[in-house]
Amino acid sequence: MKPLSAATGHPALTRLHQSLWITVLMSLLFVGLFVYYVQAEKAIDQANEERLESLGLASELRQSSDDLTRMVRTYVATGDLVYQKYYMEILAIRDGHSPRPLDYRNVYWDLILGDGPRPRAAGAAVPLLTLMEQAHFTQAEFAKLAEAKANSDALTGTELAAMVLIEASGGDVAARRLRAIAMLHDAAYHEAKARIMRPIAEFQEMVELRTTQAVREAAHFAVLVRWVFAGVGLLLGFTLWQTYRALRHTLGGKLEDIHRQIERLGRGDFDEPIPVEPALQHSVLGWLAETQRQLLAADTEHRRSAAQINNLAFFDQLTGLPNRVLLLDRLRQTQAISQRTGQYAALLFIDLDHFKTLNDTKGHDMGDLLLQQVADRLRQGVHPDDTVARIGGDEFVMVLGGLGETARDAASATEAIAERLLRSLTRAYTLRGFVHHSSASLGATLFLGQGTSMDELMKQADLAMYRAKDAGRQAVRFFDPAMEAVVKHRAEIEDDLRRALQQQQFVLHFQPQVNSASELLSAEVLVRWQHPERGLVPPGDFIGLAEDSGLIVPLGRWVLQAACEQLACWAGRPGLGQLSLAVNMSAKQFRDPGFVAMVLEVVQHTGADPRRLKLELTESLLVHDVDEIIATMQTLQGHGIGFSLDDFGTGYSSLTYLKRLPLNQLKIDQSFVRDMLDDAHDAAIAKTIVTLAQSLDLPVIAEGVETLAQQRFLQQIGCHAYQGYLFSRPVPLDVFEPLALAGTLQSVA
Ligand code: C2E
Ligand code: CA
Ligand code: CA
Repeated sequence: MKPLSAATGHPALTRLHQSLWITVLMSLLFVGLFVYYVQAEKAIDQANEERLESLGLASELRQSSDDLTRMVRTYVATGDLVYQKYYMEILAIRDGHSPRPLDYRNVYWDLILGDGPRPRAAGAAVPLLTLMEQAHFTQAEFAKLAEAKANSDALTGTELAAMVLIEASGGDVAARRLRAIAMLHDAAYHEAKARIMRPIAEFQEMVELRTTQAVREAAHFAVLVRWVFAGVGLLLGFTLWQTYRALRHTLGGKLEDIHRQIERLGRGDFDEPIPVEPALQHSVLGWLAETQRQLLAADTEHRRSAAQINNLAFFDQLTGLPNRVLLLDRLRQTQAISQRTGQYAALLFIDLDHFKTLNDTKGHDMGDLLLQQVADRLRQGVHPDDTVARIGGDEFVMVLGGLGETARDAASATEAIAERLLRSLTRAYTLRGFVHHSSASLGATLFLGQGTSMDELMKQADLAMYRAKDAGRQAVRFFDPAMEAVVKHRAEIEDDLRRALQQQQFVLHFQPQVNSASELLSAEVLVRWQHPERGLVPPGDFIGLAEDSGLIVPLGRWVLQAACEQLACWAGRPGLGQLSLAVNMSAKQFRDPGFVAMVLEVVQHTGADPRRLKLELTESLLVHDVDEIIATMQTLQGHGIGFSLDDFGTGYSSLTYLKRLPLNQLKIDQSFVRDMLDDAHDAAIAKTIVTLAQSLDLPVIAEGVETLAQQRFLQQIGCHAYQGYLFSRPVPLDVFEPLALAGTLQSVA
């Protein structure tokens, strides 16, 4: 047995190998024993058969002796020659001169009628003595048979003599017959007969004894072999079990597991490690796990180089920004998104002014440093989802998405971003200790969907950029002159607004809020722009722009400050000291990081009672992080400031939010109030809002109440606070104060 482990040197394999060998040997032994056992069982049959054979030969000898006696006696008594013929035939068969009929024993001669046909077919001519010799008798047994045979042959002499006596001619025939009969029946005959039968009987006994002994021994032996066989079977079972265990140990797990893991490796799925018991690390499964680990490492390596290749192929090595290839891909994506969402997008070309001069005077290294800093500023200037790319030299390109559903909105949003970017690029740079100043020109083109090819868009933005350069650099130009005009106009208003803020051109109007008894309890503060040329401008004309440009933050602060100053001024004055003021907050203002601090500072600075201040929020606020909004509201509420949810019913509020928001009032939007009496839907909505407010324990107020009928209906459904032209339009302070001092408002109707 040359162990396989000589090659691998591993104990688990050695064990398996030995087990396999033992199993093979045991199996061979088992099979050999089985054959041996079958033969032992056969030996019993053989012994039995030999026994029958031996007894058969003895019985034939006795039978033939009896047949001879019968034939001779019948012949002597009847003189019929046929019996003599039978007699001779019996002798001839016995001595092997005539063929021996098959199954010659037993009653063969009794079956023959007259001289009729023989009952059984003829076999070979074999002397009985030869058969006996062949029958493996012991010497003693054979001697007995031979003795019987010899005695039988001897008696044949007497019988032949009796037959001769009858056949002789002359003399007294009857007397001769009588003498012959007497010869075949006398005591001597019987004695002679007995000399035949006695050895036969003795033979039978000896054979009986020997053969039963042989059968018993064979049977005993068979039983023994059977036990050994069963034992070896058990042993084989044991070695098979040992082999199985050795195999399990070598494999390290079930065959199914191995199969599954190999399949996984084949699929290239090697992220999840193959579980192997610590003791089975040197098993097939353990080796699989090791293979998997190595494949995983190779895979990681592969991924890393793929990432490197990707980086080289798609990114600018100097700035780390996407290169032209990736830019075009992003542009294509943005076009698709724009197509799907219906939102405008923009492509921006940015070119540094006089970059060549820096390169020529301070060297390319300095140029590279500047480009890197420009790249950083550009990247920080836009939303992470937008693309900033460098397509060569000092040329940068941007793709901005989600700019709004109208070209006007998109243009002003783009303008705002572009201006911001250009401003950021004019900030001083520090290049290796040198302070450097730079600027850039920017060209933009807007697009909606995939109507214009990317190539065309690139040309458009490029063209716009050259127009910006022509305009004297450090400027923004749009490809579309109409957009240019829009942007210009908005830019003008924005400048105007900025100036208005500086010059305090805004005024507050106050619109009374009353209860069912028409008592004036509070007012909403509404801003107006007192424009030097355009006159009084309503908030609808500039709030949106202020929101877009970010001016809403300083404007909102001004409104709050003015309102708080008014509250402080009224404090303690009879008829005015109890008034509350509601101030509108735009979402953008509310989300400004300094909002809470600003409000608290204004309240403290003016000395207004925060409990007289209510901030009106709209549902548009709730599209953003609600938890943060709630936190802001709670902080301010902690200082006594209240909140009203304005324009309720038009926005996004879900009931869940409504329940969570720490509100002090719901304000039914004026659109429902306006149509409530003509439109069953609006009436139902108004009712529902009131019911909802009641269930949330929130006071409710209706705005835009213009008629008495509207007020009555509102009162009927449970709304007991009102604001609207029915009581008063928003009015300047000098008109409002007398109204407040009167206490009760006469409805205008
Ligand atoms: P709003 O907050 O819904 O204010 C109510 C608007 O409805 C006011 O328009 C008011 O004049 C008008 N109104 C009041 N009663 C009636 C009525 O019976 N019938 C009709 N048809 N209208 C009535 P206004 O003053 O033009 O303000 C428009 C919007 O501008 C305000 O809507 C508010 O969203 C915004 N706004 C006004 N002032 C400010 C402010 O200081 N800050 C901010 N962020 N937004 C403001
Ligand atoms: Ca309002
Ligand atoms: Ca409103």
